[in-house]
Amino acid sequence: MIQDLGMMEKIVSLCKRRGFIYPSSEIYGGFSGFWDYGHYGAILKENIKCLWKQRFIFDREDMFVNDASIVMNPNVWEASGHVSTFTDPMEDGKQFNTMFKTSVGAGEESIVSYLRPETAQGIFTNFKNVIDSFHPKLPFGIAQVGKAFRNEISPRDFIFRSREFEQMEVEYFVREKDWEKHFQEWLEKMRKFGKEIGIKQIIELDVTPEDRAHYSKRTIDFEFDYPFGRKELWGLAYRTDFDLKAHSAKSGISLEYFNEETGDRLTPHVIEPSLGVDRTILAILLSSYTEDEIGGEPRIYLKLAKHIAPVRAAVFPLLKNKPELVSKARELFLNLKSQIPNLEFDDNGNIGKRYRRQDEIGTPFCITIDFDTLKDDTVTLRDRDTGEQKRIKVSDLKEAII
Ligand code: ATP
Repeated sequence: MIQDLGMMEKIVSLCKRRGFIYPSSEIYGGFSGFWDYGHYGAILKENIKCLWKQRFIFDREDMFVNDASIVMNPNVWEASGHVSTFTDPMEDGKQFNTMFKTSVGAGEESIVSYLRPETAQGIFTNFKNVIDSFHPKLPFGIAQVGKAFRNEISPRDFIFRSREFEQMEVEYFVREKDWEKHFQEWLEKMRKFGKEIGIKQIIELDVTPEDRAHYSKRTIDFEFDYPFGRKELWGLAYRTDFDLKAHSAKSGISLEYFNEETGDRLTPHVIEPSLGVDRTILAILLSSYTEDEIGGEPRIYLKLAKHIAPVRAAVFPLLKNKPELVSKARELFLNLKSQIPNLEFDDNGNIGKRYRRQDEIGTPFCITIDFDTLKDDTVTLRDRDTGEQKRIKVSDLKEAII
């Protein structure tokens, strides 16, 4: 594969220029491995998380939501194996534990704990609570979206490898004999989700037993061709009953599932689809970044799927120094705002500049109010990808955009 590192510079520059992503603490020279999401980046991120929640949780009937604390009892990380094995090799061969340490409490009372390096363990520690509160039948899942922290030895490649990032994870609890069936179901779900959010090509790699985590009997890495090489985007792992058994042994609390109908007790096995939000965003930006020519002029645009684009449509008055156009455009904008998500009013600069800006943000539609609008209640609707404009009745706008 030919590596196109110039592409990364283009993406980083667009993200900064258009308010998607900035280096953290930038006025102090930044902070390696930390990034801030600006206005459009934060909305894009929120749209992706909402869609993930819809597809992985709310479209189903067998899912529970969890929102565990970031700092947990350190025994959690002893039991999960992170304290002893969550390490990366240092240059001089010394192993370095990549969990961020923090001290909890004051003075002699203080104890060492960690910022969670994955959301998964907060799900396992709540397994019994879910069973006791909701009495679910197997199979069922618990999902969580939230921040994770890893003190990566060398953070790099923009938001690909950072020290603070976000994960969308499901722990799906099944009977051992059924694991392959459910593994396949989640595999299909992840494939579909990748397509729906517009990631160009995902390569699936069946991880060999030597490269798998010791507790996993099957893992598929979803990989993406980033400009810096083919690397992991998401993971799907069959984690067996390792985590529930480990927490049960350490805490002394039974994490078995009791089937009232058959009277059997068992420790469920676990299928885990794990998706990093930030790597998802990077893959989407790389898949959607396009350069072409329109009317003889070069342009850059993000071909974002409309349901995740940070701006679904922008409303413009043709000229900003004509009060009758501005007030008509404002009226239309305020009216549509409650019906169309992520609508934006834009009267900066001239219309050419507005199109360029909205193209770079990835806005699928631009609506322009001109003098004809005042007479016949029609507007022009511009399509981002083709640049084509068509005249359309205001009353038909919602349907064309949604
Ligand atoms: P890698 O091998 O690239 O370090 P990993 O196998 O350690 O990744 P997992 O522990 O499986 O990653 O974490 C699940 C998901 O969390 C990954 O597929 C990825 O999307 C995301 N992720 C992990 N580490 C980072 C990081 N440092 N920065 C951004 N996202 C990350």
